[in-house]
Amino acid sequence: MAVAWLDDVRSTDLGTVGGKAASLGELTEAGLPVPPGFVVTAGTYRTFIEEAGIDEELFSAVDVDSEDSEALETAHERAHELIVETEVPENVRAEIVEAYRSMGDGETFVAVRSSATAEDLPDASFAGQQETFLNVTEDDLVDRVQECWASLFSQRAIYYRNQKGFPHDEVDIAVVVQTMVDAEKSGVMFTSHPSTGDPRIIIEAAWGLGEAVVSGAVSPDNYVVDRTTGEVETMTVATKKLMHVKDEETGETVEREVPDDKRDQQVLTQAEIDRLIELGKQVEDHYGEPQDVEWAVAGGEVYMLQSRPITTIDDGADDSADDADADADDDGDDHLLSGLGASPGITSGAVRIVTKLDHLDQVSEGDVIVTEMTMPDMVPAMKRAAAIVTDEGGMTSHAAIISRELGVPAVVGCGGATHTLEDGQIVTVDGEMGTVRKGAVDTDEPAVEPGTDDDDVPVGSRPKPITATEVKVNVSIPDAAERAAKTGADGVGLLRIEHLVLSLGKTPERYIADEGSEAYVKELMSGVRTVAEAFYPRPVRVRTLDAPTDEFRQLEGGEDEPTEHNPMLGYRGIRRSLDRPELFEHELEAFKRLYEQGYENLEIMFPLVTDGSDVAAAREHMEAVGIDPEKRDWGVMIETPASAMGVEDIVDEGVDFVSFGTNDLTQYVLAVDRNNEHVSDRFDELHPAVLDIMGDTIDACRAAGVDTSICGQAGSHPKMVDFLVRKGITSISANIDAVADVFEEVDRVESRLILDSVR
Ligand code: PEP
Ligand code: MG
Repeated sequence: MAVAWLDDVRSTDLGTVGGKAASLGELTEAGLPVPPGFVVTAGTYRTFIEEAGIDEELFSAVDVDSEDSEALETAHERAHELIVETEVPENVRAEIVEAYRSMGDGETFVAVRSSATAEDLPDASFAGQQETFLNVTEDDLVDRVQECWASLFSQRAIYYRNQKGFPHDEVDIAVVVQTMVDAEKSGVMFTSHPSTGDPRIIIEAAWGLGEAVVSGAVSPDNYVVDRTTGEVETMTVATKKLMHVKDEETGETVEREVPDDKRDQQVLTQAEIDRLIELGKQVEDHYGEPQDVEWAVAGGEVYMLQSRPITTIDDGADDSADDADADADDDGDDHLLSGLGASPGITSGAVRIVTKLDHLDQVSEGDVIVTEMTMPDMVPAMKRAAAIVTDEGGMTSHAAIISRELGVPAVVGCGGATHTLEDGQIVTVDGEMGTVRKGAVDTDEPAVEPGTDDDDVPVGSRPKPITATEVKVNVSIPDAAERAAKTGADGVGLLRIEHLVLSLGKTPERYIADEGSEAYVKELMSGVRTVAEAFYPRPVRVRTLDAPTDEFRQLEGGEDEPTEHNPMLGYRGIRRSLDRPELFEHELEAFKRLYEQGYENLEIMFPLVTDGSDVAAAREHMEAVGIDPEKRDWGVMIETPASAMGVEDIVDEGVDFVSFGTNDLTQYVLAVDRNNEHVSDRFDELHPAVLDIMGDTIDACRAAGVDTSICGQAGSHPKMVDFLVRKGITSISANIDAVADVFEEVDRVESRLILDSVR
């Protein structure tokens, strides 16, 4: 028999039907709502390769050094070709088609899903490594089954089996053919907390078919439910831009924009949440251990599409310290790594080492991403992560900035994290202390949940003080706008548009060449508008492009970037903008149109100016696109020592404000590369030389009636706040997580100043 019906499959059949089918069979048997279907067994695949005589060539083709990416690619191509271009024997084909026809009227849409025999094992989640095809009908059913077989030899699968030491010829693949659930909504559910195992059900939900959630293409709604009381503890309703649906005409799965009225709408009704909780408990009871479930809702019914054990909960087995002495780890027993605490919070999870080869959909909810350095295209995965650990980078690197905005604990600049830590290992990341320890968190406090709002509203729990010095917030990704606005900050002190541009995946030049300048302007408008809207009428200071060439190099078109010996001192900020005036004016055009649309709360800021002549030139470009500098608030960053020392000339050009970029100012005053972990202990924004130059600049600006601000990382530091408030700075812009503390610190210093003056 080439096929077996799911009704007849049990977990003991794992070796013949693979993990996915075995689990679907178990769920069906337990009376859970599973769409009906059958499995093309692993034996069918094995017989196919053996009888066709391609097995030996197949296994020798994939016996390569998987660190050699070219060899890996060739191996994958050859294996794929061997499998899909070999005819499936007629009797097997007939049996598959006959089983399909008996499922309905012969036109049933089915999902064709790989079920590898080494997949979903309790101690090594291979989830998502093999293909799934949705909305398949008879015409291409057998081809799709072959594609699933071939996906056993994707580059990623070959790579992973090598890493985990699974011999290629011992892994087989079965294929599940299951009635398609035309999902109106779908998502994933953890029946217990994925890091701590606490009785908390976590549900993620989005519109349409499930892949959008599983692949991280969309930020789903997140519901955390106390399993004992059934109460929803926290709920985060995300803005859902994309969904996957069946195209009515072609039957194919297509990506669509979510209609406006549904984007910010809560996906699940209370009744659906209740039903999911009920099913979650049933599944966990059935297996006797926490499960990671994929589900879908269609026609008012909730279906279970997959269930596998959660592999990230620490059972304490590899944790030598018991609960009582786990805290006493300062002797280094549990200590694995140290770096810079870049985003606060303590949390535990399973390590996912992400190299350039990997696809990010391996990163599951609650994993700890460990990577050399994060890249713009990692942001969706970073949102799912419990924590982030990097080899490289400083407090102002991409990883640090984005983690802080997402509220995900992070430790950066650890040196060899990607070598020291092992995939699947359970660790605890302390984003305040900058440490990574063995085992799960040992505290009564719940771990910080990414995307939930335990820490989302720093100000909400305490009354926000009214301070004379304004307290603003920094934003780099529009996704963080709502969270930033909720802090109660007096505005945005820095909106870095380069993260918006980097997320386009192409350099601006390449993007414009491919999509046209209008599309570029619209992309900028849309990102900036999200922030301007979230804060309206509070002011939003948006900065023109400032990405060094090494960041652009990671993008499509990056090969055209100049090679620089030291990008930090090179072609970036206003220097690049003035050298590429056309591109610069596209940015300014976006701001002009937003002003015309009524977002008069926008202010324009130019980065990395050297002196008054840079400012004059930038001003001319503003005028050239039709922005009246007299009518709008605009200013510059003070990041070079030259701009601080020559601030009078800058003031003469008519700026309304200047803002200290202490990340750059410190690196230029102290000659310490801000992203170089070898000298990070020398990077000190409170160094007297840096404070001197800032103090003098504030004095000069106060005399000229120009506002002063800080938007570098140091604005979140209490000692810097103390110094600047005493010097008379107009506003301080802090990270989202620091706004509440900065409000308090400003309040304290201002009160002390008043007291001192009357004593
Ligand atoms: C700075 O230099 O302090 C700053 C805020 O700009 P960026 O970190 O983007 O260079
Ligand atoms: Mg800077």
